[in-house]
Amino acid sequence: MNIHSAVFEISAPDLKSCPETDRPEVAFIGRSNVGKSSLINLLTNQKGLAKVSATPGKTKLINFFLINGNWNLVDLPGYGYAKVSQRDRREFSKAIAGYLEHRPNLRGVFVLIDSRLSPQAIDLEFLQWTAERGVPFVLIFTKTDKLKPKALERNIATFLESLATVCEGTPEYLVSSSVTREGRKEILNLIEDSFSLD
Ligand code: GDP
Repeated sequence: MNIHSAVFEISAPDLKSCPETDRPEVAFIGRSNVGKSSLINLLTNQKGLAKVSATPGKTKLINFFLINGNWNLVDLPGYGYAKVSQRDRREFSKAIAGYLEHRPNLRGVFVLIDSRLSPQAIDLEFLQWTAERGVPFVLIFTKTDKLKPKALERNIATFLESLATVCEGTPEYLVSSSVTREGRKEILNLIEDSFSLD
């Protein structure tokens, strides 16, 4: 799929404020600083569409972008930034939970994982929650330009091993770098495939 237009539509603080639409939708989520804004800008070929933030965890809103006039890309708030307490970290936003569980046109969520890090409890907890509720997800390991191929492979294998202790099955995954543009085509193709399942 090619993206020829990408327009910011609206920000919503919670599920009930999300725009009602029949358009298919995919969402992106991950820890603050995982590279989500950079990836959205890479996918849409627009440098300033999603805000690449200097202050992690600033965005608390659900942001909707209309792509090619016929589907929505949704930027969910980042979870688990360093400054909040352990307890708060476990309870990610009710707005995110409401959206993921009850948004009728949501086809799936891309969960971004920083490929440089060892498995993070906050990511595993979020994925366990998502899997338990049957929300379809695909992992994207970000910032692959920062690692040598062997190290990347090892980190992905370690993450998947940890994930297997909290959810069943092996999830689909992709890799990305907003520096080398790796993964862009594959992610867009996967989104297109998820829409043609209708
Ligand atoms: P967000 O908080 O998840 O939206 O993350 P941002 O997109 O704002 O990125 C956080 C930081 O990581 C910024 O300094 C980005 O320049 C950097 N970054 C994001 N993606 C990549 C990547 O693919 N490679 C490298 N080397 N840095 C990245």
